[in-house]
Formats: sequence, structure tokens, C-alpha cells
Amino acid sequence: MKLENPNYARPQDAADRKAIRPVICYPPDTLDPPDLKRLEEVRQSAVKSAEVTAAPRDAACVDVPAGAFFRIVSVEGAQVGDLNLWNKHDLTERFYSGKTRALHGTHLSTGDRMWSSFPNMRPMATIVSDTLDWYGFDEFGGSVHDVIGTRCDPYTGRLLSGDNYHYCCHSNLTRALAGHCGLPLHEAEMHVHDVLNVFMCTGFTRDTGQYFMKASPVRPGDYLEFYAEIDLVVGISACPGGDCSSEHSSDTAACYPLLIEVYDPGEAARATHVQPAASGYDRTHGTS
Ligand SMILES: [Zn+2]
Repeated sequence: MKLENPNYARPQDAADRKAIRPVICYPPDTLDPPDLKRLEEVRQSAVKSAEVTAAPRDAACVDVPAGAFFRIVSVEGAQVGDLNLWNKHDLTERFYSGKTRALHGTHLSTGDRMWSSFPNMRPMATIVSDTLDWYGFDEFGGSVHDVIGTRCDPYTGRLLSGDNYHYCCHSNLTRALAGHCGLPLHEAEMHVHDVLNVFMCTGFTRDTGQYFMKASPVRPGDYLEFYAEIDLVVGISACPGGDCSSEHSSDTAACYPLLIEVYDPGEAARATHVQPAASGYDRTHGTS
């Protein structure tokens, strides 16, 4: 955080320096926009092929083939979910929230891509529908579906409070991935990564730049829907923070399940899907 009383005096041209207009770091204009109209047509013929429920303070994983759709659905009560994505055939290729933030901004919605980690760095999924897109940004600078938080975890909880709490999203996703892929717990843990905070309402305070959360505007029936660009393992944790109106990393908040539904347009439709290629960078890193 910035000092309330800076140690150094403002230079004479401080106002001029601060008045310089910002430029967007990574203008995404050179990226091909997703063909949402085509995806909408494909979606019309898709039928529900699987569903799995993450119980409160627990997580669930499901396989989603490339060319199919999946949606995270709010059921029973306002609940926030921590979403992880992995390449089904190589768990080391996983969702890269920081780079997705750099490309699409702090909060995602329809048309945004979920990018994968280096060296592949390609779209893993595309958001095709968001029933909370009406929220935009509120007067506090808050919005939903952020890629700015990390995931609640027992290590930070231990650091700040000294407690061992076992049902944070990090641990929930670790248990779910271990069970789904038949991996030892500690091996699965290494694949859990920073998340898309589905339905969570967050921002940065304008005065101190601190990460804040507030009660999620999600209501049962709301959903966020994706198109799978590659074969995926999708994991969702029903955060112990519930609607994240007060605290997480404890059993205090009211918590509800979250549902993942998979919609399959059929093998023939999926066969027409062209999977994004891995990054073309030659990975010589200046050595040749
Ligand atoms: Zn959480």
C-alpha cells in the first residue's frame, strides 16, 4: 500500500507527470474475435450430456470435450465459485488468470477467452453467455467474474490467523482433481492454480487500491456458459465464503452448491471445431 505520508517531497512537475493519459498495455485488437454467432448456432443443437454438483465447501471436476459447452449454474442460494481449467491430456497446461487479465481486463464476460499457461498460451475456453452481464461496474468499481483474486487457500489462512482450515477452494480443488484423475493428493495440488472467480463481486478500493469483495448479485438460475476450445477437465469449488459478503476461509458463511452442466452438440458438430494451435514462439529465448 502507498504511504499516507510520503517520505519524499513532490517534484515541481508532479501534476504534469500524473496527468499523462494511460495507454492500454495489451490492446487485444489483433486477436481474432470469437465467432459468437456460429457458436450460438452450434449451441442450438446441443443437449445436456453430463452434470456434476459441487457441494458447499467442496469441489467437483468434469471432462468437457473440445467443441462442447459447459455452464456454471447458481442453485439454491447466492454462491461464489472458483474455476480451474486443465488440458485433459496434459494437466501442466492450465488456465493462466494473470495473462487473461492482461488481455481482457479485471472482470470477464461474453466473448472473453480463458488463456492457457506458457508455452502453449492459447484459448482453452470462450465465454458465450453471462446472465450477470447487466451488472457492469458498480459505484465502488466492483464487478463480477474476476481474474484478479487468487483462490482462498489454507496457507494464507495459516499465515494470517494461525489456523488450519481444510475447506478453502485450493484444498477443495486439490481433493476433487486427485479423485477425478486418480492422482496422489500432493501431486494433484501442484496442478491447482489461480482461478476465475465465478459470480464473485470484487474490485479495488479507489483510495488505497486494496482488493475488496462484496455480496455477490448472483441468484439461483444465473449462469456463466463457456465453449470448450480444447479437451478440458473443468473444476469448480463452492467457496466457503458463500456469497463472499463477509469472510471466507471459515465455516461461518451460508454456503450453497454449484452445478456444472455439459451441453454436447454431438460428435459431428464437434468434429468441425478447429482447436487453437499452441503459441508459435520458437522457445529459443535468444540463444540462437
Ligand atoms: Zn474460495
